[in-house]
Amino acid sequence: MVLSVALLCAPPAFGWGPLGHRVVARLAEAQLTPQARAEVQQLLALRGARHLSDVATWADDLRDTDPVLFARTKRLHFVNFHSRDCLYDPPHDCRDGECAVAAIEKYSAILANRANPPAERAEALAFVVHFVGDIHQPLHADYRHDAGGNDYQVRWRGRGTNLHRIWDSTMLDSTHLSAAQYSRTLLAEGSAIASGGTPAEWAEESCRIDRDDGVYPSSRFIDHAYVERELPIAERRLRQAGARLAELLNRDLGDD
Ligand SMILES: [Zn+2]
Repeated sequence: MVLSVALLCAPPAFGWGPLGHRVVARLAEAQLTPQARAEVQQLLALRGARHLSDVATWADDLRDTDPVLFARTKRLHFVNFHSRDCLYDPPHDCRDGECAVAAIEKYSAILANRANPPAERAEALAFVVHFVGDIHQPLHADYRHDAGGNDYQVRWRGRGTNLHRIWDSTMLDSTHLSAAQYSRTLLAEGSAIASGGTPAEWAEESCRIDRDDGVYPSSRFIDHAYVERELPIAERRLRQAGARLAELLNRDLGDD
């Protein structure tokens, strides 16, 4: 299913939209240790960037800026679970290591190893920032064979769209908050959020949210009640992604 979903994963719905990715990056940056922050800044400078949010959408932007690298990495933005038990089974769910779980592990290891060339570590940082965000978007770790909701048509405010886009962008954009405002709002909700775990467990959580938490609407209409119910779930996932990205970076860039 990995192949078919990859083929069906048509632009532009490909991960949290820019707002979601930037919010995750800002939440993480606010939770870095001074040591990790200093090294992050050195690595970002190699890419002409100052903040994690500056590189948060780079892996999606490759579609236009570097189609060859995009083609090589486009299967790393999601996980397709083979069954609705939502238990990660790499031979089925991550064939040849081509999924978000394996990608986070791989690029985190490249980032953590100070023997690697700085430019390679800086690229790995950009990938990690993006894929930790994606894996928390529930439809990026789904078991239904509908390209993560890209093939699930719905209506929003009288217009046709698809469920993936609703989760990537539409619900978050409907708040009319900037990434800075949104991240401040979510940070103000406090640090009491379930974090920790492994990338495989983060993906399994996303899969269970798809299965159990009303992500797939009973009708094909995304109405106010849907957003009231699901937007807090999306925001919780952003907070978890931010906290876990910070934990990962603090670990990778901590003391040897
Ligand atoms: Zn993505």
